[in-house]
Amino acid sequence: AHLDRIAAVDGDIHAFLATDSEASLAAARAVDERRAAGEDLGELAGVPLAIKDVLVTTDMPSTSGSKILEGYRSPFDATVVAKARAAGLINIGKTNMDEFAMGSATENSAYGPTFNPWALDRVPGGSGGGSAAAVSAFEAPLALGSDTGGSIRQPAALTGTVGAKPTYGGVSRYGAIALASSLDQVGPCARTVLDTALLHDVVAGHDRHDATSLNHAWPSMAAAARDGVDPASLKGLRVGVVKQLALPGMQAGVKARFDETVALLTAQGAEVVEIDAPHFEYAVAAYYLILPSEASSNLAKYDSVRFGLRVEPEGGGTIEGVMSATRGAGFGPEVKRRIILGTYALSAGYYDAYYGSAQKVRTLIQRDFAAAFDKVDVIASPTAPTTAWNIGHVNEDPMQDYLNDATTIPANLAGIPGLSLPIGTASEDGLPVGLQLMAPAFEDARLYRAASAIE
Ligand code: GLN
Repeated sequence: AHLDRIAAVDGDIHAFLATDSEASLAAARAVDERRAAGEDLGELAGVPLAIKDVLVTTDMPSTSGSKILEGYRSPFDATVVAKARAAGLINIGKTNMDEFAMGSATENSAYGPTFNPWALDRVPGGSGGGSAAAVSAFEAPLALGSDTGGSIRQPAALTGTVGAKPTYGGVSRYGAIALASSLDQVGPCARTVLDTALLHDVVAGHDRHDATSLNHAWPSMAAAARDGVDPASLKGLRVGVVKQLALPGMQAGVKARFDETVALLTAQGAEVVEIDAPHFEYAVAAYYLILPSEASSNLAKYDSVRFGLRVEPEGGGTIEGVMSATRGAGFGPEVKRRIILGTYALSAGYYDAYYGSAQKVRTLIQRDFAAAFDKVDVIASPTAPTTAWNIGHVNEDPMQDYLNDATTIPANLAGIPGLSLPIGTASEDGLPVGLQLMAPAFEDARLYRAASAIE
């Protein structure tokens, strides 16, 4: 049914970069056989899963939205993909994304944009716009994404779906094509909080292939979601509202839905506390030094030799010539911009002033969160300052796009979990609005419990 749905609507939505119905159906039959043989596969066995193209898979190409990896086939599955297969989930296709996950609209994909199922003239958010749109358009019930600065949560908000960024290290990144290693986190997307939690439980846990993977006994997120269904569970919950996340440019309809949700929380017996986080205003600036620095290092491996695209300059040439021609043709403009920014920030003489200062700001933001979580159990904010914007507005000034992440970036800088869930639509455009919840590191279950009650 989902393959039929993809065939019917994906020409308009373009959520997928690759599908292979033969491979998906064969995987589904194999799961039926495992089940018939008496294997206990858990609640998600046989359920189709859309997989962001940043995650490598053996059965379909993995491009990370870039021409430099066009047609690339991984010899191994990302750990989260392997875990999903072991639980009987079926890979139904690889989803579109901004090139190397750099962007907030999926318009930086080398393979063309994804269209928001709510309004085809709007972006689905990014970088994981493909995963969010696939779930929103009923092309897949579940999807995997990656969140370095908001790429699971913001597309969830803009498409009326649920998305979670787990605690940093909570879900393996082995086989997730690296963007910025100190920020990257893989996580689940779905249409309901419980579905998101069920997928979270399948992919979470320690992985010896990922050096930053946490060895922690995670409680069941699904149990927390089921537990939270009763709104009475909100009674006594201390909810922080950060002054600095009430951004000046916030859309009126987004603010209205958020304020209404805060009022509902109070009515259900939650205690709403205003939080001062003085360093949040520097989060975007710090992020756009740390991310490009780490990305410039991670992307150095696309050297035309080991894998991916290889472009020979006219008349042959030196190794540098081949590398430069390959990168010139293979990387898009946003990727080039960030590589240049990153290598500059890391260069001798500038390292302390830029990368060093950004790391210090990061520590101050972590302290702001620590002080806040002395007073509250969760922090709530709008996930994004606006609803989905028009496709093709390609901004002359990339700073505009960067500022759109101001609400989601702090959680990545601090390594804490965040979750976005739908809280209705904005009155001026009828487009979905997301609520973001954040909790201290390791407290992902707290998010699912609260989100379930709010949902
Ligand atoms: N929009 C952010 C960026 O462009 C988020 C990216 C992400 O989370 N992968 O960096």
